[in-house]
Amino acid sequence: MKRLTTFSLMTILLMSLIACSADKTAKEEAAKTTLTETPKKLKALIIDGENNHGVFPLTTILMRDYLLASNLFTVDHARTAFTWQGPHYDQEALGVKAADAAILIEKYPLPNGQKTIAVEKPTPDSTFNPDFAAYDVVISNMGWQASTWPAGTKANFEKYMKNGGGLVIVHAANNSYGDWDEFNKMIGLGGWGGRNTETGPYVYYNDAGERVDDPSDGACGSHGPQQEYVLTTRSPEHPIMKGLPTKWLHVYDELYDRLRGPAENMTVLATAYSDVEKNGPPWDKKVNGTGRHEPLLMAIDYGKGRVFHSGMGHMGTAMECVGFMTTFQRGAEWAATGKVTQAIPTDFPTETATSTRKWANRKPL
Ligand code: ZN
Repeated sequence: MKRLTTFSLMTILLMSLIACSADKTAKEEAAKTTLTETPKKLKALIIDGENNHGVFPLTTILMRDYLLASNLFTVDHARTAFTWQGPHYDQEALGVKAADAAILIEKYPLPNGQKTIAVEKPTPDSTFNPDFAAYDVVISNMGWQASTWPAGTKANFEKYMKNGGGLVIVHAANNSYGDWDEFNKMIGLGGWGGRNTETGPYVYYNDAGERVDDPSDGACGSHGPQQEYVLTTRSPEHPIMKGLPTKWLHVYDELYDRLRGPAENMTVLATAYSDVEKNGPPWDKKVNGTGRHEPLLMAIDYGKGRVFHSGMGHMGTAMECVGFMTTFQRGAEWAATGKVTQAIPTDFPTETATSTRKWANRKPL
């Protein structure tokens, strides 16, 4: 009996130890699971510094806020050492004269405290060399006439993209670097920047809803006065577009047309119609709109990398469109991961009604 009791006690002790050990292991596993289930934020880098859209210090911080609001991203910044702010400030909306546009750099400082030198014309920065490989996605808020990057920086960026990096192109970012062949492949289509027939075909949709890749000669890049226009979804099953309405009305913005480029591995996500009369460029009354359905949202595969390209976003006011905001957030996630987990907001625009959310961090000037 005594032996049995000792045996029983030892058994109980042993069982307890095993149970305790099993319990500890289970707890450790649970802790590990919790850790791995906590989503790690994606790392985004916004690059800027040279843009004919002198409003860029404002739109960079606005886009930063959109990325942070998605709760998916951390956001860093890389600005060229020499900042060039071109003539597009939306002076009326902002209430600043062109000469005062530099105030935007002070009003919307970079969170990293980086100080830059304002210059009157784009000036190459030989030190510009962000650590692209440290990021899941790079957002370009550069613009027309942005200076060529140092050769090493270009090579690093090409390597980053080919190895599976992400890139988001917003509006005039598709004007930059027209003579950089690999960049043209990344963005699919571009405008201005010396691009021409040799850069690649025009791409548009015809009235029958067919994509046309048109190699004919002609200028690259044009737009009319700002206007409201309807976006038409062309790839409803693409992760960025899934669940969005087939047609939705965008707020007052420029409508880029006559874009051309290699257009390789490019999916047109949405188009907008460039009206012949309404989209004639104000700088040349002899040129009209195209009468074609122009690509304004695109997704491009480049090596193992992904590019989301939005032609919208002339000014901060255009970016306050819930349609711009939603496609930007979804496009950035897709460029970073190949997937989209974000829900479509209930205030998304409809075919007949725009939808705007005033940006809360806009500063009085
Ligand atoms: Zn513009």
